[in-house]
Amino acid sequence: MIFKLSTAKFRFFALEMAHKSGFVNIIGSPNVGKSTLMNQLVGERMSIISPKAQTTRHRIFGIVNEPDYQIVFSDTPGVVNASYKLHQSMMDSVNTALKDADIILLVTDLWEDSLNHKETLERIQKTAIPTIVLINKLDKGDDERLKERTEHWHKLLPEADILPISALHGFHTDFIIPKLVSMIPEGPPYFPKDELTDRPLRFFISEIIREKIFFAYEKEIPYSCQVEIEEYKESKRLDKIRAIIYVDRDSQKGILIGHQGKMLKKIGTEARLDAEEMLQKKVHLELFVKVKKDWRNDDRSLKNFGY
Ligand code: GDP
Ligand code: MG
Repeated sequence: MIFKLSTAKFRFFALEMAHKSGFVNIIGSPNVGKSTLMNQLVGERMSIISPKAQTTRHRIFGIVNEPDYQIVFSDTPGVVNASYKLHQSMMDSVNTALKDADIILLVTDLWEDSLNHKETLERIQKTAIPTIVLINKLDKGDDERLKERTEHWHKLLPEADILPISALHGFHTDFIIPKLVSMIPEGPPYFPKDELTDRPLRFFISEIIREKIFFAYEKEIPYSCQVEIEEYKESKRLDKIRAIIYVDRDSQKGILIGHQGKMLKKIGTEARLDAEEMLQKKVHLELFVKVKKDWRNDDRSLKNFGY
């Protein structure tokens, strides 16, 4: 009897100590709140967010570390029907995210009818990977709408857990991580435990600049821009950064720079302030605009930009 008791104790101890780790991939249509959610979960401003669709072009990892688990979130570009080669490469990263996940977080909102990208929905319906449907933007709707949406998604994905949330206001989001921890397998961490993301500093600086462009311009300008960090000189008190904004066409260059360079200056100042906050030191940021004709359809440019 005593022997048994101590075995039970030992097993309990072992269970408690076992480390868990897993990849949790955030998927959904553009603009439903995927990046907002990841930032809320990871607790840092990891992924750029804007009110325009397709701000997130790459897959971005955000890592949550605790002594007994590590969750690696992937924020993906919204699922779109490819019309540019850039879209094709954005969809490739979504498709990879559908395959290598331990858990899929499918984000939708109270208005999206179904996933506007049929193929992705079909894949999720067929996959054996556990899926959680998060109905976001709960702050903007009423109970009736939520009830109707919940039933709708339950019909589409009967196996999935469904949770209404507000990523922006952090409503119900604290249920997500404990739920995920209960679902991920035991295993060692995939990344060193002090890392929050796999992306280098340069990447975040270029994302900050891109975010400012998204907020500053209407229509096609943001989608035609690519930011490249040409030079990054790090020192203890001050980082010197030179970035180039590439646009598609000559006409866009003038618009981006603005009358007497005012627009570019505004973007530069805003981006510098954010960068200083992120790096916790002074930043000297220089911005240049160059034309790279039709870069979104050019394989070599896409490759250079890391797509
Ligand atoms: P993504 O394209 O799916 O990554 O969407 P984003 O995270 O970039 O968010 C798109 C827009 O939706 C932004 O303007 C967010 O502030 C907004 N948003 C995200 N979550 C919520 C939410 O819970 N409530 C409301 N009202 N807006 C939200
Ligand atoms: Mg996004």
